Amino acid sequence: MYEYDLLVVGSANADLVIDVERRPAAGETVLGGDLAVHPGGKGANQAVAAARLGAGTALLARVGDDGHGRLLLDSLRAAGVDTVGVLVGGAPTGVALITVDPSGDNSIVVSPGANSRLLPSDVRAAASLFHASRVVSAQLEIPLETVVETVRALAPGSRFVLNPSPPRELPAEVLAACDPLIVNEHEARVVLGAACVSNDPAHWARLLLAKGPRSVVVTLGAEGALVCDGSGVTRVPSVKVDAVDTTGAGDAFTAALARKLGAGATLADAAAHAARVGAAAVTKRGAQESYPTAAEVDAL
Ligand code: ATP
Repeated sequence: MYEYDLLVVGSANADLVIDVERRPAAGETVLGGDLAVHPGGKGANQAVAAARLGAGTALLARVGDDGHGRLLLDSLRAAGVDTVGVLVGGAPTGVALITVDPSGDNSIVVSPGANSRLLPSDVRAAASLFHASRVVSAQLEIPLETVVETVRALAPGSRFVLNPSPPRELPAEVLAACDPLIVNEHEARVVLGAACVSNDPAHWARLLLAKGPRSVVVTLGAEGALVCDGSGVTRVPSVKVDAVDTTGAGDAFTAALARKLGAGATLADAAAHAARVGAAAVTKRGAQESYPTAAEVDAL
C-alpha cells in the first residue's frame, strides 16, 4: 500500500577531504595530499544506507545545479534511491571541507548551501511523497522550520524518526512526533540542556522520554545502544568487529532502524538489527561507501 518504506528529509553534501601532516593554524598555509570528493550529508547517507539494505527509499533534499549536485544524484541513484524529491538549484550544493591529520583528528568547515534553502514550502509541495511513505526520517542539517513542517506533513499512520544532529533544543511539537528520537551521547546532552545532570545514559533516556517523544534510542558507539519506551530501558548489545572508520555509523544505524520499524519490528528488535548494520559500517572506510547490503549484514 505504501510506495516507499522510507522517506528521508535532509541534507546532501559533497565532502571534500585532504590529508595533511598538520592542520593549519590561523594565517598559515599547509600542503596536503590529493583531494578526495565523497558524497555525504546525513540525509543522503541515511537514504543510501536504507536503499542498500533493500528498502524502497526516497529523499527530499536540495542540491545545487553544479558538479557536486550531479555527483550526489549519481551516487543516490546508483544505490537505488528515488531522487524525484531531490530539488536542484537555488544555491551551490552543500560542502564540507575536511582536513585530516595523521592521528585521524580533523577540522571541518561546512557550507550548508542548498541545504539551507530546503524550505517548508518544499515540504508542502512534496505531499504526495509523504502519503506514499510508511516511515519518515529527518536530521537537523536543514532549517529547523523545515523539520517542523515535516512533522506536520506526516500522513496518518506513518511513523517519524529523528536524529537531531547537529543537536539543538527541539520544539515540543517535533519531540512529540518522534518514535523514536535517536541520539548519541553529545546529542543527548544538548537536547536535554540543563536537565542533563548525570553521566548515566539510561537516565538520559528516561529524561528524554519525559520531554515528549513516544520512544528514545541512545547510541553508545562500540557499547551498542539503549532503547526506552513506556516499558522501560532495554540495552542492545553491540556486535564485536574490528572498527576501521566510524564515520557515518550513526546514519546507517538510523536508516536500518527506521526500515525495520516500518516492517513491523519492535523497537528493541529494530535496534538490534541496526546495531549489526552500524557494526558492519565501521568495518570499512568512508560513510556511504561503507554501508552494507542485507546479505553482508546477515554474513556478519
Ligand atoms: P557518527 O556521528 O560517527 O555517524 P554516532 O555517534 O551518531 O555516529 P554511534 O553511537 O557511534 O553513532 O554508532 C551508532 C551505532 O553503530 C552504535 O549504536 C553501534 O550499534 C554501532 N557502532 C558504532 N561504532 C561501533 C564499533 N566500534 N563497534 C561495533 N558497533 C559500533
